[in-house]
Parts: sequence; C-alpha cells; structure tokens
Amino acid sequence: MEHWSEQGLRYLKGVGPKLADKLQKLGLSSQRDLLFHLPLRYEDRTFITPVGSLQPGQRCQIEAEVLHAGVHFRRAGRSRRVLATKLADNSGVIAIRFFYFNASQQKLFEKGNRLRCFGEVRTAQGELEMIHPETELIDIDNPSALPQTLTPIYPTTEGLHQLSIKRILQQVIDKLKTDGIAEPLPQAWLDKNDFPDFKSAMLCLHSPQNKADSDLIAYNRHPAQYRFIVEELAAHRLALLERRRQIRRRKTPAIAPQRDMLEKLRQSLPFELTGAQRRVLDELMQDFAAGKPMIRLVQGDVGSGKTVVAALACLPVIESGYQAALMAPTEILAEQHYRNFQQWLEPLGVGVLNLMGADKGKKRSAKTDMIASGEAQVVIGTHALFQASVEFNRLGFIIFDEQHRFGVDQRLALQRKTRAGEMAHQLIMTATPIPRTLAMSIYADLDYSQIDELPPGRKPVTTSIVSEQQRASLIQRVAGSCAEGGQVYWVCTLIEESEALQCEAAELTYEALCQQLPQLAVGLVHGRMKPAQKEAAIAAFKQGETKILVATTVIEVGVDVPNASIMIIENPERLGLAQIHQLRGRVGRGVRESFCILLVKNSLGEAARTRLEIIRSTQDGFTIAAKDLEIRGAGEVLGTRQTGDMSFRIADLIRDQKWFPRVEALAKMMQLPEYANARAELLRNWIGERQDYTDVG
Ligand code: ADP
Ligand code: MG
Repeated sequence: MEHWSEQGLRYLKGVGPKLADKLQKLGLSSQRDLLFHLPLRYEDRTFITPVGSLQPGQRCQIEAEVLHAGVHFRRAGRSRRVLATKLADNSGVIAIRFFYFNASQQKLFEKGNRLRCFGEVRTAQGELEMIHPETELIDIDNPSALPQTLTPIYPTTEGLHQLSIKRILQQVIDKLKTDGIAEPLPQAWLDKNDFPDFKSAMLCLHSPQNKADSDLIAYNRHPAQYRFIVEELAAHRLALLERRRQIRRRKTPAIAPQRDMLEKLRQSLPFELTGAQRRVLDELMQDFAAGKPMIRLVQGDVGSGKTVVAALACLPVIESGYQAALMAPTEILAEQHYRNFQQWLEPLGVGVLNLMGADKGKKRSAKTDMIASGEAQVVIGTHALFQASVEFNRLGFIIFDEQHRFGVDQRLALQRKTRAGEMAHQLIMTATPIPRTLAMSIYADLDYSQIDELPPGRKPVTTSIVSEQQRASLIQRVAGSCAEGGQVYWVCTLIEESEALQCEAAELTYEALCQQLPQLAVGLVHGRMKPAQKEAAIAAFKQGETKILVATTVIEVGVDVPNASIMIIENPERLGLAQIHQLRGRVGRGVRESFCILLVKNSLGEAARTRLEIIRSTQDGFTIAAKDLEIRGAGEVLGTRQTGDMSFRIADLIRDQKWFPRVEALAKMMQLPEYANARAELLRNWIGERQDYTDVG
C-alpha cells in the first residue's frame, strides 16, 4: 500500500477540489509536500503583555476590555469606513483600528467584551495603536489557555487562510507522530553532526514543544533547522552537479590547440596581458582541450579586461572551423564590443558581424544569411541573437557578457540554440564579485575563474558625497575639467520601476546643463532613445565631440571611454552598492586623476549615508559586494531571476554560509553509489518537480 506521505491532499479532512487547487499553487500535491511546507517564521503568543508596557515596533499580544467602539468615515465625501475602538487593561489604553472589516469583526468589539489581540504596536498622534490585529473573544468565566509554544506562520497564497493551512497541516503532523516516516539520511552522518532524526526535526519545526526549543528556533539556532538547512542546500547542489554531469556527457565541438591567430592578436595589442588575464586564458584553453563542453564563469572587477580575454578565446574556435557568438545585455555594450572585435579580429581576416534588435527586413535577412552560411565567424549582439529565426552554421562557442543574472533556465534556453547533438562551449562573464563559497553553491554546475588583477597604471578614483546645495559649484568644477580636455558622465537615477521617469530626469538635467554651460557640448543617452540615437550619443562622447554625457543607468555596464575622469551620480542612494561600483568603474581608466561624486539630497537618512560611506571608503569590488549582500540579501544582489530558480524553503544563502563546508561534504557523500536511494529522496523532497535543474534538453 502507498505510504501515507505519498497520498494526495484530497485524502485529508476538509480538502475539496477548490482547496486542493489553491494548495497546488503553492506546489503542494502530496502529504509529503505539506511536511516540507515549513513555517516562514514564528510568533510568540505564549504570554500577554500589559498594555502599559507595550513598545512600539513590537508584535505583541494583549488582553483587554473594549471601552468603546465606533465606525467613522475617513475623509469627507469618501465612503471609507474605519472601525475605531479603544481597549484597556488595568495598565493602560490602546486604540485598535480596522480599515477593512466585516460584521462579525465589528461584533467582537462590543463595549465590555474582553479580547485577546495579537499585532504590531505603533504610535499614532502620541497614542498606542494596533491596526488589524488578530482578535479572539475571551470568555471571562472560562478563558482559553495561551499557547505553550511558538506559533508557526506558514507561507500562503491568495484566498488561503493561515488557519486553513494549519488545520490541514495538523493532520499530516499527527500522521507523522503516529505512523512515522523513513529516515532519508545515514544515521552515522546525523550522529556525527549532532543533527536530530527526520521525524523529530520535522515535528519540532512544525510544532515546537517547549521553551528551550522555541528559543533556539526563534534565533535560527536549532539543530532541527541546521539539519534541514544543510539538507536543502545539499539537494540544490546535487541537482546542479547532476545537471553538470549531463552536460559534460554531451558531444561538444572539438577545438584544436591552435594558437597561431591567438598569438598574432596578442602581439598586436597595445598592452601586455596581466598575469590574471593570462591565467584565465590558459584555463579556457584547457577547457577546450578537455574535449568536454566548457561551462565557465569568469568574474573580474570592472575594468579588469574581460573583453580581450574573450576575444582571444574566440580565435582557436574559429581556427577549428566553428563560429563564436557574444551576447551583451544592452545594445550600447553590444555596439562597443562589435567595434572592439572588429578592430582586433578583422586584421586577422576574421568575419565579425553584429545583429541587433533594430535590424529589420532586408538588412536583417542579409545578416542572418551570413550567420547561417558561416561567413560571419564571430557574431555579436543582444538577446536578438538567440531568436529562433537565427540559425548558425556551426556555433561552437557562446560568450555571455555581464550575465551573472542568468538563471539556470536561461542558460538552458540558449543551449538549445546550438546544433543538434553538439553542446557549444560557454563562457559567462560578470563583474559582480560573488564570494567563492557562495559562487560554488549557486553555480555548482559551472567552473569558476577570477581575473583578480587590474591592468597596471589604473588610478584610484576619489569618491566624495556632495549635497544638492553644492550643485552650482559642482557644475563649475565640471566646466573646469572639460576646459582642461577632460570628460564627464552625469548619471541620473530614479527608482528602477519607472524607466520613463528616469529618462525624464535625464532630459531635464540635460537641458539645464546645456543652458548653464553653453560653451560645452553636452550629450544625452537614455533607454527610451532609438538604438541608432543611443549609438550616436555614445560614439560622439567616445570621440570627444561631446564633453559631458548625461545618462541614465543604461551606461552601467561596460561602456569604456578612458578620457572620462569624472562620474557624477545623482540620487545614488536609490542604487545598490554593486551598481554604484559598476558606474564608478567607468572612470579611472585613463591617465587623468579621476573622481566619482555622489550627489545627494540634504534630507538623506542615516542608513543611506552609512551605505554610501562604504562606497566612498573602498574601491574593492569584493568588500562592496559582501556588504551589499549583507544589507540587501542574495535575491536582490544576484537578481530576482537568479533566485527565481533558487528559492529556498529554509536555507538562506547569506545567513547560512557557515554551513557550506558541511553542505559540500554531504553532497559529496550522497554521490557515492550506496547512497543512490537517499540522494533520489533528497532531490525529491527539496527540489521536487523543478525539473529545470536536470533537464538539459
Ligand atoms: P571589463 O573587465 O570591465 O569588461 P574591459 O574589457 O572593458 O573591462 O577593459 C577595460 C579597458 O582596459 C579597455 O580599454 C581595455 O582595452 C583595457 N585593457 C584590457 N586589458 C588590459 C591590459 N592588460 N593592460 C592595459 N589595458 C588593458
Ligand atoms: Mg565588460
């Protein structure tokens, strides 16, 4: 007979088709799935706080009597009703308000009723209040007992009440208690780590039984949590490793160890490669020589010279009769790469082509013909490169520039574009420094290299925080620098969701600067301009025709104009630290002394100032990324896409880094043949249906 945990949710009391549907939305279809639906957080409802000692900002439980209650209208003429009430215990009075309420809630707040309310305490106009607390009527003669343990709060979805989830979960928890479940992990490993067994760990997290457990759980320090954190991270790692194994089994273009063209290009460069560039280039050559698909992530701080390494790596591919493709995140960057590659590769007789979203009709079909015939040996573009209508003759090598935000599924989509049966070599380049241990767990399916050295002669960029009041003198300083032959970026930022507003801000600044500095040529580039216009604006700035380039964050990545030595960023507090660092990386590339000026409002808060102070005080991408991760969390920094296929139930990539060595060890052990069943179980429990990890097409 089927084990209870394999049974569908319809076997549970109170689960009809409708509810089953909602649970399905949460990815829950079997009773086992429910067990793994772990609490998001816990609330402590084991005690009552006297109203007189409530602290604003805390989530508390009170027990008090209704003094009076009434329904008001919020604003004249608007039918917004508010249920406003006052409750008191013998220590104080608190206001309770509901902006949305139904008749039964209203009835609870009858004068004289004794209520238990749980919610966040705040102060409004000097008095304590709770908005929309969870409320329970107390029978004064026979008050219900307080919970003895922490109250788990579960992830839910629209139309699914916390209490319904709890009711259903309770049935599964009861079954676990009475009927048990097989332990998926080796007992010896659990003992060695002092981790509890599966059953007690699960029970403990779903319904912590005592104060000691509750305290540990509240601080994420319970061995039951540790056990599942390690388990979950190991499962993700195993899934990625499995994916990697499958990819590595695929047939791949054979790249001959030809170095002739590569050496020619190297000789013709106006600079020597840095040691780090040489090392990474060697690693790429070793990948080619290994006869297995390359899947390598190369991380190198802004300006470390990733592009030329990529260009060099294309040459053996071309010599072996294959094509290479370079994909950039923006048209501006694609255009710049196109020019660089032309300059580097065309003298060697290599056919370089760019394909942009804007290429339409005849122009486009001429280009796609050249790609299909193989005449275009290196093709550079944006995502337009990977539309179904673009067919390569013999694609052997794909480079993704500034693409750390590519999730597993995007990596897959592009792989499918290669010739049947052959998996192209892949190189992913990023400036976002990810601590190595973190990279290993997110990118367990990739090899990882670092260009950890900047070309010699780079000048440190002096960064300062300047307030809005000094705008006029800042403009004079800009004028002075331009008079001496320098160039300036002026970046306007606004909240990311509103690209339109950001462009508008840039346009306004552009007009103001044109007026205030009539003697100087000012350029403008933003996301709403046509690709050709953008290109022209960047080209004019590159050639020094314009001295000031007003831009939105479209220039964040890659743009390379060594003569520019001042970077002004308006409202930098709206950007992530890593993003500011990227922008700042646009200057300090030439011989001039360089400056980055963070132009802030006077009203900037303390927290924002502290954040900007990090940028001001260091230029080390790793330090900045580490702080950024601490402040904003992995999801934000690595991009939502990244976390879209890396969402965890209990683990947190930043908080749980100390477990990584143990995760690695567990994953390694699970790969041994004798643990094949345990491994399958682990993957099923934590990865489940998320096939995208393992499906390599
Ligand atoms: P990123 O790693 O940020 O993509 P780029 O590839 O755009 O950096 O390189 C930044 C600049 O440094 C470019 O102008 C490039 O030509 C130059 N460069 C690259 N490698 C070296 C080197 N070894 N020595 C001097 N300049 C270099
Ligand atoms: Mg670059």
